[in-house]
Amino acid sequence: MSTATPIATINPATGETVRTFAAYDAAEIERRVARAAKAFVAWRSTPLAVRVAAVRKLGELLDAEKERLGALMTLEMGKPIVAAVEEAAKCATACRYYADNAAELLAPRRIGEGDGAGEVIHQPLGPVLAVMPWNFPFWQVVRFLAPALTAGNVGLLKHSSNVPQCALAIEDLCTRAGYPDGVFQTLLIGSAAVAALLDDERIAAATLTGSEGAGRSIGAAAGKNLKKTVLELGGSDAFVVMPSADLPKAIKTAVIARTINNGQSCIAAKRFIVHQSIAEEFTNGFVAGMKALRVGDPADRETQLGPLATPTLVDELHRQVTESVARGAKLLLGGTKLDRKGAFYAATVIADPPAGSPAATEELFGPAAVIFRARDIDDAIRIANDSSFGLGAAAWTRDDAEARRFGLELEAGTVFINGMVASDPRFPFGGIKNSGYGRELSSEGLYEFTNTKTIRVGGGITLSE
Ligand code: NAP
Repeated sequence: MSTATPIATINPATGETVRTFAAYDAAEIERRVARAAKAFVAWRSTPLAVRVAAVRKLGELLDAEKERLGALMTLEMGKPIVAAVEEAAKCATACRYYADNAAELLAPRRIGEGDGAGEVIHQPLGPVLAVMPWNFPFWQVVRFLAPALTAGNVGLLKHSSNVPQCALAIEDLCTRAGYPDGVFQTLLIGSAAVAALLDDERIAAATLTGSEGAGRSIGAAAGKNLKKTVLELGGSDAFVVMPSADLPKAIKTAVIARTINNGQSCIAAKRFIVHQSIAEEFTNGFVAGMKALRVGDPADRETQLGPLATPTLVDELHRQVTESVARGAKLLLGGTKLDRKGAFYAATVIADPPAGSPAATEELFGPAAVIFRARDIDDAIRIANDSSFGLGAAAWTRDDAEARRFGLELEAGTVFINGMVASDPRFPFGGIKNSGYGRELSSEGLYEFTNTKTIRVGGGITLSE
């Protein structure tokens, strides 16, 4: 979104502006950064058991209030309500994961004995700026804050301008979970205010989940200041289907994997690469599945496909589809904005996009799928890897040797065999190539914003217990 984006709740299902917020001025930003710096001094040396109690309580609150929080997500960014409630519950699982595992994961690692022995410990870095997207407005934030705060950092959230109420709700949940004043704060600011924060010496590091453009900009601004970053950027995940696959299951999953979150997920399957011997059968089933989706008000529990988050996203998706078709891709379904109030786009399927067309090279952030035909497994892997992105990938096959090749050869941070790509607190998550760098979740996510410190002892000193 542009720097001029208003900070406001605008219901994407109706276009109605529900509530607007004034961006914090320089004095308020300064107050909050100063509070974060002060809070870090105390929080870093707060016993781990206290930090663990806070993250555990945060998980309990997320679970207990998931219906209310889900409704807020649906209002601000149009996610179907059932999925929104599930998102709040998933956040609770991440909190529980770190509450249950932090003590073991952060325990000092002893190496050697006597003179020259050592230990490896993880110490927090300081205030971390988190720039977050609207598409999973709670999950993206919690998967940063649960490990980062448990490790002893403090957080400053600059959320997307279209989800201010979600941003404020997360701050409020953290306060009620028992995080001390200043340990987690929301900054209601536009993206233009981010660079100055990265120049501020009190900010130790930054994490961004968002578009490739934002990644380049934040990566450059942080790099200038030699600050550590984690960048979770876009993706154009491959979903490969081989002849031995359970085809009905693959087709059913393909429809869900493309349209999850109204098609606006970084790890949504976006490029369907199908072996030529089953391409027709897959395509017919997939188009039928996309056509059958129930489109409607995201607040209705029966809705499977709601609006995109903003009219700008609809315009951008429509440009990508029409440009690809004009350049020779086949349009099999949809390809139009829906003639109704709100930011709706028809479930769309295109096939055989020419090299270099938007459907072949760009991330399509909405319910538009692209089908490619592959001659054999080598061709399928070649097409899958012919992308500037490398976030996730899925492959469907019942052949062990093929499954192993996909696992090893697909260029992605995560590969699923016979399933759709999804994140899970127990497993590290992140990308390669233009999908960014760094990892969230699991132990890797806990260590990202820490100083992995080696302490070696000699001269008769022994490591303390
Ligand atoms: P976006 O436009 O990049 O915005 C993400 C965040 O970055 C927002 O808070 C935005 O603020 C801010 N921002 C944008 N440009 C900036 C800049 N030049 N400097 C500083 N901050 C900037 O992305 P989005 O449209 O919200 O999210 C969709 C993208 O995120 C997709 O590409 C998707 O694949 C990716 N994503 C990746 C992951 C992952 O884990 N890899 C997960 C989810 C989403 P404003 O709202 O104020 O503009």
